[in-house]
Amino acid sequence: MSFESIIGHDRPKQILRAVLAKERVAHAYLFFGEEGIGKSLTAKMFAQAVNCEEPIKNGSDACGQCWACKQVENSVHPDVFTIAPDGDQIKIAQIREMQDYLVYRPLIGRYKIYTIEQADRMNASAANSLLKTLEEPPDHSLIILTSARPRHLLPTIRSRCQGLRFAPLSNQEVQAALETHQDRSTESARILAGFSQGRLGVAYTVDPDGIRQERDRVINTIGLDALMEGGVVQVFNAAETITKGDSPAAALTWLVHWLRDMLIVKTSDTPKRVMNHDRLTELTTASQHISSDAIIGLLEGLETMRQGMKRNLNAQLQLEVILLNMYDAFAKNHTP
Ligand SMILES: [Zn+2]
Repeated sequence: MSFESIIGHDRPKQILRAVLAKERVAHAYLFFGEEGIGKSLTAKMFAQAVNCEEPIKNGSDACGQCWACKQVENSVHPDVFTIAPDGDQIKIAQIREMQDYLVYRPLIGRYKIYTIEQADRMNASAANSLLKTLEEPPDHSLIILTSARPRHLLPTIRSRCQGLRFAPLSNQEVQAALETHQDRSTESARILAGFSQGRLGVAYTVDPDGIRQERDRVINTIGLDALMEGGVVQVFNAAETITKGDSPAAALTWLVHWLRDMLIVKTSDTPKRVMNHDRLTELTTASQHISSDAIIGLLEGLETMRQGMKRNLNAQLQLEVILLNMYDAFAKNHTP
């Protein structure tokens, strides 16, 4: 493994390589970005590159082959450690243990390295204790914090770390990774990519059959046939199914993808980017019964609604309005 093997995240990789090339490794970094996106993996690769016995000089990357690289890869390097929440918190005892270890020089590597995962879960005493180390870090120490909620960290901690933002990958990057590294079919890779929203770690670990069933459950309630047969009653059923399920946000995402797919089918001759490719026939038929403007209007409505969900506005009511508009658009253009 090496930086080279990490998919996407070009900007953070570029910065870390420059840091290594100039031998200006800071004492503390904060890798922030959504959960399951590649922060921990990059931290591991950085630890590898920092302690590699034969760093590839020009590329500033780990060799991936030496004893140190292998030890880091297997999480058994004597100078490289990870702290993760114990239950739902990182506790002061975990930070104190780190501090006790950090006092001593590295055993074999150049740096003693700690990755603190989900660092925003440090409780107040743990955070205050870490702050002391960040204020006076031992020369040979490197601490990497990862967080999906960096705003929950103390500002004094944030300001002592060099921040690196990790952005979600594109759907195409996730899809390609799944096809190449997990031998997924194009069809299932597309669905997983859409579900994971650029989080490769999530795409790698979820069950594709479960995801597909969840998608079908949503799509079957708002498909052209379902709406034309069930009418307004079906609209209300669908709004309830989507907003009262286990994960309304995910259900809404499927709805957005479905509408976006319809738009792609309408405007493109080669619907390569259609996510729900396995349901292309149905998408094509539905798209013939609604105008592009109407679809765009619905997508805008859904975006406003998603913003509203954060403020706890009545999601079901809003979705009913959106789906009624969709039903209207279909009904106008539909001759049974
Ligand atoms: Zn190496």
